[in-house]
Amino acid sequence: MRILITNDDGIYSPGLAALAAIAASLGEIRIVAPHVEMSAAAHSITSARPLTCKRTPLNGREAYRVNGTPADCVALGLHQWKDAEVVLSGLNLGSNLGNSLWPSGTLAAARQAALMGVRGIALSTPASGEEADFATLRPAVLRALEFLLPLDKVPLVNVNFPSQPPRGMRWTRQSVRHYDGRIVPGQDPMGREHFWFTVTPAEDVEEGTDRWAIENGYVSLTPIRLDLTDESALVLLQAKPTETT
Ligand code: MN
Repeated sequence: MRILITNDDGIYSPGLAALAAIAASLGEIRIVAPHVEMSAAAHSITSARPLTCKRTPLNGREAYRVNGTPADCVALGLHQWKDAEVVLSGLNLGSNLGNSLWPSGTLAAARQAALMGVRGIALSTPASGEEADFATLRPAVLRALEFLLPLDKVPLVNVNFPSQPPRGMRWTRQSVRHYDGRIVPGQDPMGREHFWFTVTPAEDVEEGTDRWAIENGYVSLTPIRLDLTDESALVLLQAKPTETT
């Protein structure tokens, strides 16, 4: 299997190196990733300037760094390597659960693949305090990939790993009931006011969601769709006349 690997933490992230090492046991890999960290870049693309793609072998593996966004990297990578069969994005240093799927560059890279007709899988792990222990994580990542890669009818999956060896895997849905983003004001050393856009842990986790799976020690697998249409609103709205004449 031909596997394109990218991320949003930048080409020198240890998470990308860990994912590349695991994926190399499953197929032929190539790495195309942002030259700097692009976390929370969402699905932005670079359209006002050209992109450069510089060969940067990584631990002896074929790799390229791009001065663009995660979505740029996937578009460029699939342009250069037309035979790629799947795009893996990660391992992101930080979970991508619930409403963080909106700003996530990790998921956006996988979604860019799905938009181009190639399967995309986003993979994230918690990053609080100590750096993630990739040796401990490796068996769970390998098991998840061995499970997901044969599922060729599922175009886009968001995968999150718990920080400890998991109890198993669960298909989940995105938790959206609680929005956990907030603005926290502060002061710089000169006394000037500034602001952090940060997150607070969501409470009352609903069973069956991505956040629930992680809090209960499971790997969370969420199938993601490309169509943002609100189906129930559409049914209601189409039942009403849109013209008054
Ligand atoms: Mn990131």
